[in-house]
Amino acid sequence: MGHIPDFVTTPSAPPIYQTTAFDVPDLDVLNDIHLGRARGFIYTRDSNPNHAALGRSIAQLENAEAGAVFASGMAAIAAAVMTLAGSGDHIIVARSLYGVTLKLTRRLENSFGIRTTYVDATNIDEVTQAVQPQTKLCLVETISNPLLEVTDIPGIAAAIPQVPLIVDSTFTTPVLIRPLDHSAALVVHSASKYLNGHGDVMMGVCAGSKALVRQICDTSSVFGQNGNPFESWLTQRGLRTLPLRMQQICRTTNQLAEFMATHPLISRVYHPSLAGHGTAETAQRLYPQGTGGIITVQLKGEGRDVVTRFMRAAREIPFSPTLADSRTTISHPASTSHAFMKREERSAIGITEEMIRFSVGLEPFELLRDEIDQALNAVAQR
Ligand SMILES: *Cc1c(COP(=O)(O)O)cnc(C)c1O
Repeated sequence: MGHIPDFVTTPSAPPIYQTTAFDVPDLDVLNDIHLGRARGFIYTRDSNPNHAALGRSIAQLENAEAGAVFASGMAAIAAAVMTLAGSGDHIIVARSLYGVTLKLTRRLENSFGIRTTYVDATNIDEVTQAVQPQTKLCLVETISNPLLEVTDIPGIAAAIPQVPLIVDSTFTTPVLIRPLDHSAALVVHSASKYLNGHGDVMMGVCAGSKALVRQICDTSSVFGQNGNPFESWLTQRGLRTLPLRMQQICRTTNQLAEFMATHPLISRVYHPSLAGHGTAETAQRLYPQGTGGIITVQLKGEGRDVVTRFMRAAREIPFSPTLADSRTTISHPASTSHAFMKREERSAIGITEEMIRFSVGLEPFELLRDEIDQALNAVAQR
């Protein structure tokens, strides 16, 4: 049929392999590909050159043997947990995890009988005491949302060496920390965030040992959680600028944290670079280059009305219920990530109505400083 030009090309950028399946010349080759004896691909739900390329890049960045690609961060986390734990098993998870990850563990408990203990991940004794004979994994994030509590990854790994530690490093990326170097068993990311970094992809990745990643890929094939070629390609392109982006974002974020910490219209700033932060010491030890682009602030005033007024005045900083776009965005934890909690539950863990979470992007510091200052003054002047 001649639908592919019959000559060898050497494209400088990787092509997109937008295909459902791959033609196989004979059954011997098919068998060899299945057994991993020959290079090749069969069906895109299992694997595709764009998945494979992105998986290799992630493995390299995370200093891992292997990496894999999923349709979203949630698909990556779900595939990992369902691979390591099953009915009757027990898992330990941080109480402060991303809201939908907590929803996932609740679902796995209610529908699939995976028992869960929720812990304060900054309290290593509490994590250690949660271990049971049937404990199959411990799931934590590098830095929590929205209060930016830094998890002591090497501390937890050393305290419970018999339990595989899964680290969601979405907030920090391999530029700032490589959890496997600190004895984690697996690292997962929502690549929808910094890894892609342009706010136009849904994707997840994981990296770890060859054996574990192979098992997780088997789970994701069965549950249909694989990513698609185009978004793998976009994410891989995003990775080219990841180190530069993270450097710039960390620098601007630290400057903004300092600026906002002394602003008369802000009552509190949550950022690990500030001396008063509860986990500032852990941050200094584990994150010499910075802790990424998330800052949470408590506005002066009362009720969510101050947030609405800030949003209306800060035209250059859009409200967007995601993070890690190249643009700076704001979010309101009480009505997005923590909307599923009752107001009293939220205030018990320190999340208030007047809190705004910034995800700092690539704009110059001066532009962001002036826009925030102008918006705060507009709120105060009403
Ligand atoms: C966004 C996010 C997820 C979920 O990722 P999706 O790509 O949206 O499915 C998981 N963990 C953290 C920390 C996140 O920020």
